Amino acid sequence: MSIPFQQTSFITSAAKPEQCPEDEGREVAFMGRSNAGKSSAINTLTQQNNLAKTSRTPGRTQLLNFFSLTDELRLVDLPGFGFAKVGDRKKKNWQATIDAYLRDRESLVGIVLVMDARHPLKPFDEQMIAWSLEAGMPLHILMTKSDKISRQAQANLVHQMRQHFGAYENLISFQCFSSLKKQGIDALRDQLTHWLTAPLTDEDVE
Ligand code: GDP
Repeated sequence: MSIPFQQTSFITSAAKPEQCPEDEGREVAFMGRSNAGKSSAINTLTQQNNLAKTSRTPGRTQLLNFFSLTDELRLVDLPGFGFAKVGDRKKKNWQATIDAYLRDRESLVGIVLVMDARHPLKPFDEQMIAWSLEAGMPLHILMTKSDKISRQAQANLVHQMRQHFGAYENLISFQCFSSLKKQGIDALRDQLTHWLTAPLTDEDVE
């Protein structure tokens, strides 16, 4: 099945789990620290300039944003943490919402963890990876802004990631990506298509 990524459309935003769309079909969530390049990656993937709002847009960045690919398949843009100028209490509320989403969402089949290729594996990223491994949730690491580093540095980064995560290749995959140079789009689409359309295994059905 070929997924019409360029037809992706916004469905709704949710500040609380009960505001999320029906938990059926399948969805893939994008996460990352603020400014990692997540919105740009979603826009590049879907070939839409303004689908995911960038970190400069007030409001939207604090919500879970749902997009439909087809009736049954969705992308979710989860709020990023890092440079957001909000109080600790508000941050804790978001964290609780995201924790609940990750814990309870049945239709979630994979997570794209977006990180700036120049600043990989920050504590937030390590935390997400540890959670993913523990939960058995597949994770695809998108090392963005790869145009900012040399080809050699990209190869070194991939090598380093392979050394780190090679033992978990059934759960963790990774690639370089550049929204600016449109690099890595096919690899990202292939990974999402696999997650969103692969037949369910016995384990998934249990
Ligand atoms: P978000 O907070 O993770 O959604 O990050 P944005 O997508 O808003 O990007 C943050 C900043 O990085 C913006 O100034 C983007 O123009 C820039 N950026 C995003 N992706 C790339 C990329 O692939 N290459 C370069 N050079 N800049 C990028």
